[in-house]
Amino acid sequence: MHNTLKKVFGFQSFRPNQETIIKNILEKKDVFAVMPTGGGKSLCYQLPARMMNGTTVVISPLISLMKDQVDAAIENGMSAAFLNSSLSTQEMSDVYKRLKENDLELLYIAPERFAMPGFLETLKSLPISLFAIDEAHCVSEWGHDFRPDYLSLCNLTRTFPHIPVSAFTATATQKVQRDIINKIALRSPYIIRASFNRQNLFYQVKSKAGLEAQIIGFLKEHADEPGIIYRTTRDSVTKLTEFLVDQGISALPYHAGLSPEERKNNQEAFSRDRVTIIVATIAFGMGIDKSNVRFVIHADLPKNIEGYYQETGRAGRDGETANCLLFFGRQDIPKIRYFIDQMPNENERTVSMDKLNKSVKYASHNVCRRRQLLEYFDEKYLEENCGACDICMGDVEKVDITTDAQIVMSAISRTGQYFGIGHIIDIVAGADTKRIRELQHNEIKTYGAGKHKAKKHWQFIVDELLAQEAIAQDGGQYPVLILTKKGTDILLGREEIEGLKREEIRKKPKAFKVSGFEPYDEVLFDKLRVLRKRLAEEHKVPPYIIFSDMTLHEMCVYYPSTLDEIITISGVGDTKLKSYGIDFTKEIKAHLDKNPDISIPEREPVAPSVNTPRQKMTGGTIEKTYELSREGLSIKEIAKARNLATSTITGHLESLIKDGRDVAIDRLIDPAKRNTIEEMFLTLKTWHTAPIVENSNGTISYDDAKLVRAYVQQKQS
Ligand code: ADP
Ligand code: MG
Repeated sequence: MHNTLKKVFGFQSFRPNQETIIKNILEKKDVFAVMPTGGGKSLCYQLPARMMNGTTVVISPLISLMKDQVDAAIENGMSAAFLNSSLSTQEMSDVYKRLKENDLELLYIAPERFAMPGFLETLKSLPISLFAIDEAHCVSEWGHDFRPDYLSLCNLTRTFPHIPVSAFTATATQKVQRDIINKIALRSPYIIRASFNRQNLFYQVKSKAGLEAQIIGFLKEHADEPGIIYRTTRDSVTKLTEFLVDQGISALPYHAGLSPEERKNNQEAFSRDRVTIIVATIAFGMGIDKSNVRFVIHADLPKNIEGYYQETGRAGRDGETANCLLFFGRQDIPKIRYFIDQMPNENERTVSMDKLNKSVKYASHNVCRRRQLLEYFDEKYLEENCGACDICMGDVEKVDITTDAQIVMSAISRTGQYFGIGHIIDIVAGADTKRIRELQHNEIKTYGAGKHKAKKHWQFIVDELLAQEAIAQDGGQYPVLILTKKGTDILLGREEIEGLKREEIRKKPKAFKVSGFEPYDEVLFDKLRVLRKRLAEEHKVPPYIIFSDMTLHEMCVYYPSTLDEIITISGVGDTKLKSYGIDFTKEIKAHLDKNPDISIPEREPVAPSVNTPRQKMTGGTIEKTYELSREGLSIKEIAKARNLATSTITGHLESLIKDGRDVAIDRLIDPAKRNTIEEMFLTLKTWHTAPIVENSNGTISYDDAKLVRAYVQQKQS
């Protein structure tokens, strides 16, 4: 298994659960696996496909995805094909011919084919090793993506009693899981429920205020990173795309109103890195396996958490850090409620309303976003601080807001629980509006009771009360505020309430540190990215299929410039070595020749784990640097004494600092300068050194930036 893993896929180690799943499949057991997006489900059936005799049949719901999946397998040197309605009769019969000759390891099929008369009979006569059902939640009416076509898979285990069946999905509550297992009639399956936690995703919610400027601000910090921006309506997709393009940003729209042709082209442009950003309705994404999506922005409130989790899940499949940013504005709630109110079925309305409320709670509740998402999927999250969401990374400080809460709730109560947020805030703030005068609300006791504080503050209080369910919104398109039992208790002084000291968070967000993120040569990365794109165009496949971002990052740490070296990089298997080894090593060699100062870290002889792309440099040489630094030598002096490049010494010191060793940072870099650089990292919200150096008018070197980065990261951890 390990041998195949390296030779075919180029990976040194398995991701969590892959190994046991594959072992069970090889023992011909049925398997049911829930693994998050990016968890590496494909490998769980592709690797057995190579090892077992016969063809592995993969059932996959999306024709648009099949070609890329097959191309990716072929790039890894597997024999693979697909059968779907997009093929001509000739192509179709070629595939059948290869099947009969046992010349296919992998065959991708759309589910509807199983309902076609005679198809199962045809399959029966072929040497099939395994059925793998991808996106298996589509078989369940309880899931969020039910597809009637999947029901034709229900006969599979009866028709093929001796062939193992595996089912994979990224989303299934316990209820959906039971339903899937029953429907497909899996035979005492081996069940894996992996954690839904996507450690490499950073979750963040911002109040929506001047959306376009907010988005531009984000994109400035994330220039050239491929990302998806979700909007609710076609119209807002069109407008936002136009705005971005006007601002010189490479973006294309995607929504159900475009012609199939346009949609296909835009999706392809995105997956092939020809356009950086796709602005889309939720119609976009089911058919996308692009692994290097670096961020997903929700510019409007999602209707439910399932959808939100799925959409954000499209970020960072390659395991590298990615951002999920939601812009939350209460004005979005009535818009969604309006649609819910149109639903004919009462039960459906109740369920949807409940889901919407949970989504609002996610956005406005001061609880770790990751914890909320995981708990939604019935998973207990035990960490105190997830380290990768805005709540956990902010300086969360709670204050007593009982008095302010009482002011707001008194205004609600005195006006008969009959008015919406805007009007209640106007009363509290003592606004002089026509409506207030007409209703004589300037005569109630609470009028103007909060005029010494900004309206924005009262908005915060209302949000907080809604989030903590002291008040609720009631009614259709123009919801009014009402008190809950909890709210009444607070109003009557029977209970107190605390809220987040909001302003504090925004001031000093700590920078984001996730495991797996390690520094790499950004200049080389850009060069390799260009090369990857060129080769992708030549080979007519999406760039991420050639090498993932993670693979490129690793190349930008170890600078493999020979074929012997590049084969040790995670993601470089035998076939890719043959196809791309020469091009990539050449580019890296050229980069090294141009930059003689670059020092290449040595690798430990042990097989590296995929999650920590950068290995510790061998101990001895670092220790030597440590000793000399302890003796008080400067970087230059150490470099000279050891006959090494200064950048090498900086690299040593970086890892010493990160390891929490006693390095006298003040001697290496002036404290004032250190503070400046620290501030820059925090305000620019990046761990990349390039923006720091570029913003410093030549006063900060890469080495300075690297040392301070190590210092700050150590301090934070
Ligand atoms: P899923 O279908 O579960 O969402 P994929 O099968 O598309 O995930 O895999 C996501 C990414 O992870 C792909 O780029 C894949 O090459 C990579 N990957 C899978 N297994 C491993 C592994 N053992 N080591 C490193 N990368 C892996
Ligand atoms: Mg998948």
